[in-house]
Amino acid sequence: MMQRSALVLFSGGQDSTTCLAHALARYERVETLAFDYRQRHIVELQSRLNVLREIKAQFPHWAHKLGQDHLLDLGVLGSVSETSLTRDMAFKMEASGLPNTFVPGRNLLFLTLAAALAYRRDLQVLVTGVCETDFSGYPDCRDDTMKAMQLALSLGMDRRILIETPLMWIDKAATWQLAQDLGGTALVDLIAEHTHTCYLGERTQRHAWGWGCGQCPACSLRAQGWQRWRLQAGV
Ligand code: ZN
Repeated sequence: MMQRSALVLFSGGQDSTTCLAHALARYERVETLAFDYRQRHIVELQSRLNVLREIKAQFPHWAHKLGQDHLLDLGVLGSVSETSLTRDMAFKMEASGLPNTFVPGRNLLFLTLAAALAYRRDLQVLVTGVCETDFSGYPDCRDDTMKAMQLALSLGMDRRILIETPLMWIDKAATWQLAQDLGGTALVDLIAEHTHTCYLGERTQRHAWGWGCGQCPACSLRAQGWQRWRLQAGV
């Protein structure tokens, strides 16, 4: 069976915006989903609306494929997990070797709810920007976790649900290049200007790679990826 429709887990950051472009280039009908889990960088929920508006304005050949946008309240996640993403605490590495930005079970919940929504909306593929080459090594972003979730969700809903992960094996420099390949300089500029990555929700400082504090783990990763990409691209 040919897949024609997708639901993109779209937070409004660089990765999920690149995934959205990937889905729009590939599928006939694309819907988007985000979660409000009282994240500290709640500004990303505004960024995502700006990104959707700009994609519709600047990419007319994609705009007609872009369907409903969904926002689900997942406040319960903030009340069960004590992490630096949901509480006012400093970023650090835990004894487990994981950064304290890890929200246990977050992606598992996201994918389960996304699959339930996809079921209702009759969408065939879940697209998510999880990545194993990411610095943080979140266990719920691993390829094996995604494959296990795909199997569990497909069995549990008695419907084939594919989980597509276009960024799984590429680094941040290659993610910028993927955006360039999918939508040219216009998409790269749109991502730099309108997406949000900074964990602190900082949007007063503009760097070549976008807005952010420039210091937190998410900003550092995005900035380093940009610099490597510019070097490799020779621009
Ligand atoms: Zn930052």
